[in-house]
Amino acid sequence: MLRQVAEGVLIHQSEFCQSNAVVVHGRAGVLLIDPGVQGYEMACLANDLRELGQTVVAGFSTHPHWDHLLWHARLGAAPRYGTARCAATARDRLSDPGAKARIAAALIPPDIAEQVPLDLLGLITGLPAEMAQIPWDGPDVRIVEHQAHAPGHAALLIEERGVLVAGDMLSDVLIPMLDLNGTADPIEDYLAALRLLEGVVGDVDVLVPGHGSIGGADQVHARIDQDRTYVHALRDAGVAADPRVGPTAKDGWEWVASVHAGQLQRLARRSERDGTPG
Ligand SMILES: [Zn+2]
Repeated sequence: MLRQVAEGVLIHQSEFCQSNAVVVHGRAGVLLIDPGVQGYEMACLANDLRELGQTVVAGFSTHPHWDHLLWHARLGAAPRYGTARCAATARDRLSDPGAKARIAAALIPPDIAEQVPLDLLGLITGLPAEMAQIPWDGPDVRIVEHQAHAPGHAALLIEERGVLVAGDMLSDVLIPMLDLNGTADPIEDYLAALRLLEGVVGDVDVLVPGHGSIGGADQVHARIDQDRTYVHALRDAGVAADPRVGPTAKDGWEWVASVHAGQLQRLARRSERDGTPG
């Protein structure tokens, strides 16, 4: 079911990890950001759009993780975009014939694996780094690229509508999940990304995270602060007094505590290896 969160901006939420697909109305059709996860959900979204007399004229993936790179044939054959780094990473990770089977086995939870159509996974075109907006006929959608959760991760700012689509940051249920593979200083990168977002959210009153609840104006800075506090705790190898970790986690999100433990452990191993903190 589509739900309007701002004028001309609607979301379709998946049962899987409260994943938010975002629909933005343009002049000749809609832009679809992170389309969804399970096949029947994307088919449902395609139906809803058809009933509204809308076609998808462009797609966008906020980052190169499987749950943001999916597509369904019934959504049509519009061009799908991501940042250049996002597209290059997706291409790289999908370049060998066994890649999809590996993703299905290692990353997709077994209980939904059969419901996740991988045939159109990751078929995105990289937008050149100097392109500041998504090329489409609709309200300006500014690409705010940063290095944080995944290579080429982008938030999208729809200024006219007061909306920030945050990708996998600023969630009320997921802690910051750092990209611990591809970068020299994942902690500082993440903090820099939060500063970058802080600098663009002045007029934002609707925050759409990749997973979790939509935030209102009061949530924008609160979630930036919450993520920063968490990353500081991670940096200082401290206990994260974070509502998303431990007994205060929302129902169904108890596993986030193990993500936190895993991050602490990997960062500790990293600093042992490099002899540098963080
Ligand atoms: Zn995600």
